[in-house]
Amino acid sequence: MQPLDYYANNVTGTLTLLAAMDVASVKTLIFSSSATVYGNVQTMPLTEAHELLPATNPYGRSKLMVEWLLADLVVANPAWHIACLRYFNPVGAHESGLIGEAPCGVPNNLMPYLSDVAFGLRESLTIFGGDYPTPDGTGMRDYIHVMDLVEGHVAALKYLKNHSGLHTFNLGTGRGLSVLELVRAFETSTGQAVPFVIGPRRVGDVAACWADATSAYALLGWHTQRTLEDICRDTWRWVSEGRVDE
Ligand code: UDP
Repeated sequence: MQPLDYYANNVTGTLTLLAAMDVASVKTLIFSSSATVYGNVQTMPLTEAHELLPATNPYGRSKLMVEWLLADLVVANPAWHIACLRYFNPVGAHESGLIGEAPCGVPNNLMPYLSDVAFGLRESLTIFGGDYPTPDGTGMRDYIHVMDLVEGHVAALKYLKNHSGLHTFNLGTGRGLSVLELVRAFETSTGQAVPFVIGPRRVGDVAACWADATSAYALLGWHTQRTLEDICRDTWRWVSEGRVDE
């Protein structure tokens, strides 16, 4: 963890951007927030009204600080039109197979690690924890196709045309999926084996986290369109055909 880098990038970076926008008289902004602002919550799904407690996670705290400063900003100056989008777990790739994620070094996140294993770049996936209080013991998350997420931004931008102030939305599918369920779905959709071992829990991980995305549907007219199978197939197309490894 690099707390100072998170704060410098997210907090100082946002302040610098807002100052530049002010000078240029641009007053419409979409902020990429994160479900990590909710912290370690026991009851799912999460609505936007839920208490915000990003436990001991500097990334989540830096996102929450930006949410607070944006809230202060719209009170001080009602000319701003700001959407705060709380992303759940973005995965997948562009349907063309030409745009996707290629993290430097060993991936931290599940999907890039899992797809590296399927591609034969890594031996096996370590599932972080098999003893969570979830139906199969593995952690549960709300995995959203990145192109659904993109469409959520377009919907938010349209909404901001007629709405000033700060508007916060969860962007997720509304469905929690376990690590094991994702592994099985990936194997079924792509025909590739994903060997795995169950390891210890990763420090800082919550057992489960998924969205109540009804507000985005009600106000933005947006909901996810792509299936878990789409997520797996598009990830695999990118990894096996589009990605160029260095
Ligand atoms: N995970 C895992 N093995 C990995 C990476 C992640 O079992 O190599 C699990 C992690 O414990 C969590 C889920 O996969 O339950 C999603 O983790 P990720 O890092 O992708 O996103 P996070 O929800 O932590 O932001």
